[in-house]
Amino acid sequence: MSSNLSGKVAFVTGGSRGIGRAIAIRLAEDGARIALNFASNSAKAEEVKAAIESSGGEVMLVQGDVSNFAVVTELIKKVVDAWGRLDILVNNAGITRDNLLLKMSEDDFDKVIATNLKGVFNCTKAVTKLMMKQRGGRIVNMSSVVGLKGNISQTNYAAAKAGIIGFTKSAARELASRGVTVNAVAPGLINTDMTAALSEKVKEMMLQEIPAGRMGTPEDVANAVAFLVSDQAAYITGQILSVDGGMAM
Ligand code: NAP
Repeated sequence: MSSNLSGKVAFVTGGSRGIGRAIAIRLAEDGARIALNFASNSAKAEEVKAAIESSGGEVMLVQGDVSNFAVVTELIKKVVDAWGRLDILVNNAGITRDNLLLKMSEDDFDKVIATNLKGVFNCTKAVTKLMMKQRGGRIVNMSSVVGLKGNISQTNYAAAKAGIIGFTKSAARELASRGVTVNAVAPGLINTDMTAALSEKVKEMMLQEIPAGRMGTPEDVANAVAFLVSDQAAYITGQILSVDGGMAM
């Protein structure tokens, strides 16, 4: 399915690699201009920019740490100053700092919450007034199967991803009357740099829990996001869409 996003501007966080990269490329294919955020990997961000531009799309790179509210506010302002609007926000940036609770440092807990949860607050808050004024907008937050089920060694990550679910439902209630939808996607085990760090043994164990019998691709997730930001999804808000081959049902 291809949704027509021509004339729309999308801000995608963590767009330099993995799932964010696939989302940026897909939304550009559907016609949106892309503000591509990333933390530090300029080389990878430039690759995504080149891929989109080679297919005739428009991209602006907006490097910055989503956990910093002042930085995020500046980036959003830069995009709106240049392109005059912002229709779609995809809060995808995320990190892991896995460890058993007994061994997890306070810093590992704080960093994951700051990036994965406060980052979502920062970006959403920075676009809310504009989207309300525009009387329309689409916000999609990246949760996880781990936010639904929990996971050993991921108390920090699970807390952030479950927090995103509560945040999504609350923001959806606040913004629905202004035509702004807020939904979350909960991917399962997706083939990216984040999961490349897992041992083969852990991956094998996780595969046993996936009825579809395979890992997901970043494009599997991008397809769901493309639907949620399209006009076809205008009456869908506050929902958590699992893209996990049946892992969490
Ligand atoms: P990834 O391959 O590790 O890529 C992470 C992206 O986030 C990169 O673009 C990175 O930028 C960016 N990023 C990290 N910290 C940031 C910060 N403070 N500010 C701005 N950007 C930041 O991750 P992924 O697997 O694609 O995951 C994307 C999202 O999906 C995350 O929220 C993750 O939790 C979620 N998710 C992933 C899976 C999975 O199996 N992979 C499953 C469920 C949910 P740089 O390139 O500059 O570092």
